[in-house]
Amino acid sequence: MSSSNIIQPNTDPWTLAKELSGKHLIDGEMVAAASGKTFEIRFPATLETVGEAAYGEAADVDKAVAAAKSAQTDWAKKSARERGKLVAECGRVLQNHADELGRLIALETGKALRTESRVEASVLADAFVFYGGLGSELKGETVPFNPQMLTVTLREPIGVVGAIVPWNVPMMLMAYKIAPALVAGNAVVVKSAEEAPFGVLRVCQIMNQVLPEGCFNMLSGFGPECGQPLVEHPDVGKVTFTGSVETGKLIYKTAAEKLIPVTLELGGKSPMIVMDDADLDRAVDGAVIGMRFTRQGQSCTASSRIFVHEKLHDTFVEKLEAKVEAMKMGDPLDEETDIGTIVSQQQKERVESYIEMGRKESGAKAIEMGELPSDEKLSKGYFVRPVIFTGMGIDARPAREEIFGPVACVFKFSDYEEVLAAANDSEYGLAATIWTTNLKTALDATHRLEAGFVQVNQNLVVQPALSYGGIKKSGIGKEASLEAMLANFTHKKTIIMNMA
Ligand code: ADP
Repeated sequence: MSSSNIIQPNTDPWTLAKELSGKHLIDGEMVAAASGKTFEIRFPATLETVGEAAYGEAADVDKAVAAAKSAQTDWAKKSARERGKLVAECGRVLQNHADELGRLIALETGKALRTESRVEASVLADAFVFYGGLGSELKGETVPFNPQMLTVTLREPIGVVGAIVPWNVPMMLMAYKIAPALVAGNAVVVKSAEEAPFGVLRVCQIMNQVLPEGCFNMLSGFGPECGQPLVEHPDVGKVTFTGSVETGKLIYKTAAEKLIPVTLELGGKSPMIVMDDADLDRAVDGAVIGMRFTRQGQSCTASSRIFVHEKLHDTFVEKLEAKVEAMKMGDPLDEETDIGTIVSQQQKERVESYIEMGRKESGAKAIEMGELPSDEKLSKGYFVRPVIFTGMGIDARPAREEIFGPVACVFKFSDYEEVLAAANDSEYGLAATIWTTNLKTALDATHRLEAGFVQVNQNLVVQPALSYGGIKKSGIGKEASLEAMLANFTHKKTIIMNMA
């Protein structure tokens, strides 16, 4: 990378989005869609036009996959450490763009800059640095098969990986897919979510300064027109997807026809159990973080089913209400803002329909918190006041279905066995937390909670070194960690050399 072609950070997201408008990134070049078509992206807080994204279709997919296929051969010939060094270098360059990327993501998704978007941008850089260090860990084994034979296994790349990402944490979730895929020697084609194309495109543009052309290509577009042809493409040998259960099933079916491996990170309805011996204030803070109220609850791991022991229930609800009440909802780009917007009109309507449904449930009480912004400029924005439901029946739809919004159901319990059964009574199994100072209860619950990620007395999000992924309808396969790189982006070749 020569100093003359280093892209400088641009912290004005409005001009940056205009610069990125109308483009995919294919074979190292920013190019328009084959059809020349675009679609509009609006700032969810004011509905002003942010820019126009390139409208990807099968012809664009063909071009991007061909570029990836051709680049992958030379990429895989580099030593694993060399690939790792380049990926880690991408992380360092991205860190210099953290503020810029945070602003851009806040603009297109409405996530508050200080509490959410800038944080995402930093975590993103860290994922590349982490995976960049794992090149030498793409190890095989030696197998004591026969004394006259040398029997070994090798880890080889799959080839071209198709990655389909959602809009809620688009850059970070993409990083957990492409960083390990690249280090393992694959080339990738990413399809961004229709709501959030620019942050992902900018990451791709920045990384293309460091990576050889064609290794990392990016398309924007809609699911059926752009995502589906990517999954169907004969030269795509692996698909990694994060999104809804319904789309996950479609992708799984298409992949089954092609007999290719898939990783699916899908939804959740995660339980949080607060025992009577829990540190109450800590648990309340954990609920605020776990519910991702600062992100309008738009998280697949959101602790949206909160079970609180009857001794603590009323105080817990009061304290939680007070905490969320004190949060400021407003312009996502304003540093003072704690809570930004929902991503789109469609999502807003969906969330509101669940709130309406909850209000009609007999015995349920809706506690609405915080104030809608008073600024006239934000009057059309997709703001929803966070809601806690108490007294909701455990089988009511808002208590069972993923809402993907700032809506939590708090249930009262008295018996440990009953609460464990209730927590596990879900078609999802992504994350779970238990809050207790009793070691025996903590250990028992960690073994018995049905989820891919169980935490005691804390509510962390995905960490690079730790396997992350759900069971049941929450998905198939793990992301993050060394294990995920090996399992998702390599195949194992067995070699026997007969020396007799
Ligand atoms: P959400 O409801 O959260 O938007 P989706 O599963 O619809 O979740 O979207 C997640 C990602 O999947 C987006 O990038 C979207 O464009 C893509 N997608 C949607 N439908 C399909 C499909 N049929 N094939 C491939 N990708 C799709």
